[in-house]
Amino acid sequence: MDNREIADRLDAFASLLDLGDANPYTARAYRRAAETIRGLAVPVTELVQSGKVRELRGIGSGIEARLRELVETGEIQELAELERELAPDLIGLGRYLGLTTKRSVELARALGVHSADELREAAADGRLRDVPGIGPKLESQLLEALAREPDAQPRQGLLLNRAMELVGGIATALGGSPAGDVRRWRDSCERLAVVCSADDPVPALDGFASLPQVVALVERGERGALGVTIEGVPIELIVAAPERFGTELVRATGSADYVAGLEPLPDGVDERAVYGGLGVPWCPPELREEPFRGEPPSLLQLSDIRGDLHCHTTWSDGRASVEEMARAAIDRGYEYLAICDHTPAVGAVHGLSPDEVRRQADEIAAANELFAPFRVLRGIECDILPDGRLDLPDDVLAELDWVQASVHGGQRMPRPEMTKRVSEALLNPHVSCLSHPTGRYINRRPENELDLERVFEIASGRGIAVEVNGLPLRLDLRGEYVRQAIAAGVRIVCSTDAHSVAGLGNMQLAVATARRGWARAVDVVNAGPLEGVLGR
Ligand SMILES: [Zn+2]
Ligand SMILES: [Zn+2]
Repeated sequence: MDNREIADRLDAFASLLDLGDANPYTARAYRRAAETIRGLAVPVTELVQSGKVRELRGIGSGIEARLRELVETGEIQELAELERELAPDLIGLGRYLGLTTKRSVELARALGVHSADELREAAADGRLRDVPGIGPKLESQLLEALAREPDAQPRQGLLLNRAMELVGGIATALGGSPAGDVRRWRDSCERLAVVCSADDPVPALDGFASLPQVVALVERGERGALGVTIEGVPIELIVAAPERFGTELVRATGSADYVAGLEPLPDGVDERAVYGGLGVPWCPPELREEPFRGEPPSLLQLSDIRGDLHCHTTWSDGRASVEEMARAAIDRGYEYLAICDHTPAVGAVHGLSPDEVRRQADEIAAANELFAPFRVLRGIECDILPDGRLDLPDDVLAELDWVQASVHGGQRMPRPEMTKRVSEALLNPHVSCLSHPTGRYINRRPENELDLERVFEIASGRGIAVEVNGLPLRLDLRGEYVRQAIAAGVRIVCSTDAHSVAGLGNMQLAVATARRGWARAVDVVNAGPLEGVLGR
């Protein structure tokens, strides 16, 4: 067995542990070990045999024992048992139909079926109604869902970071390109697709079917397949003939409306050839939502970003110190970083009192001495209280370089009150930027009732920026609103709201979200020099 095969078995084991509702840390540990083994330059079998495998990061005695079993017997017995018991393809299908793992296992047991195909057969034979607990109503719902299956959408999209990991992993494994919603950087991804190029589609189709991420094939055609992930999310594979790769990639990337606006698409080996054939300028994927055949603007790029203006440290709920965050920002090539810890009203975590804000200033001054000319800014993420006042006195705010104003608690206010609350805060002369303006958590918490048009009007008049928050659960403002804000003359800030060194990496998500709002570098405060940030 080579490293890749071994890593795949560990991944499969992790997936089954997840399904069996095992401790999530155990599954995560197996995934990490798989990752490590995939990246190894030497065969892991040798390390196992020489007893050196535990020198690898993240491999403890439990995983070592499994690896030894795998190397010596070619199988992990518990994995084989779990596969028999849990029938992952069946559970994947069950999730797709809206059933819990437990319910799927019970259903399979009652029907005496062991695979997704057998479940479909049993359903088609009308045997669902014999299962205790399945009445005529549920039966017809399940049959209906099964009938819709091939082009059905997941009930809820995947967060962008999870979708990127999933689609990116499959694309890399098959040597293809990510397409669908992920390639357009949608905040919540429903259409997951990968496009490959090959004369003979069979190896890619076979490879797809045997990936650990794909637990069941719902459909397999001559040049395409539809699989289901462990979460029950459908994912599509398209294997294009090489001379049509660009055509299929354009078709699988844009929204249905966008693609319809370009059809009929000519054949092309890559996208440039397709757009060239149409006589239409190439369009960045982020803009392929509405029909568009024009010249796209020169969009903001990740490399335009010169600093991050919203991050946390151990002073509030971050995991790294001021110095560690600054060092990480320097490593990213930034010129500045604003430290914006919380204020007391945030409630759930520690917030800084005026006294602590002043003590933090000493630590920031020390970091500036150490890292000059890099600049650490004294910032704050200051809560907007329910009455619109800010959570720190004006004289404290006046000392700071950068003030993010944020609504955290009490988000379920009626529209007039919430609009008044935020508008009031923006009248404070020290506010630099409005954080995560709509307050939504994607798929979990709706947007605040807030008159954004009014907010943009005030922000524009007072030179206050609005944030595109790069946390995968927020991505707030989203693209449509970014576009409205820019049209209203408001400047944008792309931030990560990082709570750790790794969190700074979410800048890419913030930038992509701003690009979906047609943002150019000139529209973005932190694509400019420090003087612009301070001077505004
Ligand atoms: Zn916040
Ligand atoms: Zn924050």
